[in-house]
Amino acid sequence: MRPRLDERIQAQRAERIALGRSRERRIVSRRDGVRCLVLDAHGDGRWLVNFCSNDYLGLSQQFAVTEAMQDTASREGAGGIGSHLVCGHHATHDALERELADWLGAPRALLFGSGFTANLAVMQALLRPGDLCVQDKANHASLIDAARLAGCTLRRYPHADADGALRQLRSVPEPTAMLATDGVFSMDGDVAPLRRLALAARVQQATFYVDDAHGIGVLGPEGRGSVAAAQLGVAEVPLQLATLGKALGSYGAVVFGDDALVAHLAETARPYLYTTALPPPLAAASLAAVRLARKDHWRREKLAGLIDRFKRGAARRGLSLLPSDSAIQPLLCGDNARALALAAALETRGFWVAAIRPPTVPEGGARLRITLSAGHADADVDRLLDALTHASEAIGAQRHAPALPA
Ligand SMILES: *Cc1c(COP(=O)(O)O)cnc(C)c1O
Repeated sequence: MRPRLDERIQAQRAERIALGRSRERRIVSRRDGVRCLVLDAHGDGRWLVNFCSNDYLGLSQQFAVTEAMQDTASREGAGGIGSHLVCGHHATHDALERELADWLGAPRALLFGSGFTANLAVMQALLRPGDLCVQDKANHASLIDAARLAGCTLRRYPHADADGALRQLRSVPEPTAMLATDGVFSMDGDVAPLRRLALAARVQQATFYVDDAHGIGVLGPEGRGSVAAAQLGVAEVPLQLATLGKALGSYGAVVFGDDALVAHLAETARPYLYTTALPPPLAAASLAAVRLARKDHWRREKLAGLIDRFKRGAARRGLSLLPSDSAIQPLLCGDNARALALAAALETRGFWVAAIRPPTVPEGGARLRITLSAGHADADVDRLLDALTHASEAIGAQRHAPALPA
């Protein structure tokens, strides 16, 4: 007899609960900048200061961004109405792709519905069985899944270890190869050693691909991201991904590359061909957001000031954070129950911080993933630090976080 699916999922759910890994969605009924009205199980709302969003520059509610979206929606409609290659490719998409390419100094940019699908598209279109893809162990799930779906050989190296990357490339010398890394790591907040990785890719003739979901808009001159911040360009990093749903406050993603690469993706990537184009109103919102991100240096400066304030305040209070200079500031908790208890204690004090647990992070690596935004005020950061101090004392926290598991 076949094993029953319903029994299996029941057992898996019970196991997740026992391990403190169950997850549930919270309903946000209103947003006002970094403040969210969050509903509890009874449907009662409570305003919380959000310290877990990816809206790093506070662009998602900017007037120019929402106005562009409304204008385009009222003229052009809500939906994408077709795939890009049939009838969905709109002048708004074209304008956004041009603006993005100009921003990063890349020959071409190609829009996708999301970062997750863009990663699937890149690897499926470029790699095939027999090829090699070398990746950082802490890479985003979409990069790992993309390599698996492409059917290539996937080799992973220890986090941020450029020598490890080189060793993995050397160990499989024959096939066509890609080296792929997050620019800013989504759960750790640190930046990949891009210059050393670029060198490893070059000497091993591998195509270097940087997924800069969390770096774009935030790092580098004009917010051009982690690659530009490392003083690298298209010569060293021929393929880059940026997402529009994080610092740009909108939705979607873009792949940067030369004419041949982008044309190949547009004609052959199944997650590009067989899906509806991004709605033009969203592309218009992204275009307005990119223009703001390019010129509003004060947003990056304000964010950098808040990051510095948070890190220094945490150090004074003996709260040990993972080493990160980005807007992602993880407080390692180790076990799941402790991360959940800390998050709950923060919520009673009016703060929303997500407890990130395995399998999103390695076993024993549960953490509070605290994210800062240009929309926060100094006082928000100071009050969060006080709340963190009280919460960790109440929970009997170790003041020195456990070592990050390898
Ligand atoms: C969020 C994220 C993605 C996925 O992007 P979406 O547009 O949210 O689908 C891909 N890569 C990294 C590193 C991310 O952090």
